[in-house]
Amino acid sequence: MSTCNKVHEIFNQLPRFYFPFDETKIPQNGIYILFEKGEKAHGGDRIVRVGTHTGKDQLCSRLRQHFLTENKDRSIFRKNIGRAILNKNSDPFLELWEIDLTTRTNKEKYSKTINANKQRQIERKVSDFLRKNFSFAVIEVGDKRKRLELESKIISTVSLCDECEPSKNWLGNYSPKDKIRGSGLWLVNELNKTPLSEKDISELTF
Ligand SMILES: [Zn+2]
Repeated sequence: MSTCNKVHEIFNQLPRFYFPFDETKIPQNGIYILFEKGEKAHGGDRIVRVGTHTGKDQLCSRLRQHFLTENKDRSIFRKNIGRAILNKNSDPFLELWEIDLTTRTNKEKYSKTINANKQRQIERKVSDFLRKNFSFAVIEVGDKRKRLELESKIISTVSLCDECEPSKNWLGNYSPKDKIRGSGLWLVNELNKTPLSEKDISELTF
């Protein structure tokens, strides 16, 4: 069995979280593995994104930034979903969606150019899409260095797999990002690097 197949088997068997999720059941530190409606691989749900957090005890907070907080500048995942939605609709707002509004300078500079209502409308669409279509599993990893290492290796394992493919209807096919369209993952970093070893896999299965 291929490493990617094993990884899919392991994560498909874990308890699955759907929005709205019970935060008390989520460990404080760990890695999340996202699945998307309609996306299948290796006889189960296809892994479409893997992520983690850097700050201590911030796993839940990271998941909230994706599913709850309507601010694409705090979640690259939200930003990428928005990019694909806007691009699919040939919406010229895509250009403005790219601008990071977390800095005071940009906020002031673009306050007149960016229609705040339109911005909120897109954020809402992103939330709706995320909440309806994504589910996730989590693994607890306390050590930050280990988390980042495993995250990278899981991503590489899936991106290097020839059998994992997005469906024809996958929203990511409309992403303006080559790496998302090419990998079938909502990711642009840690693709095609070092995959998981047998030893790493045994650590995942506890
Ligand atoms: Zn695969």
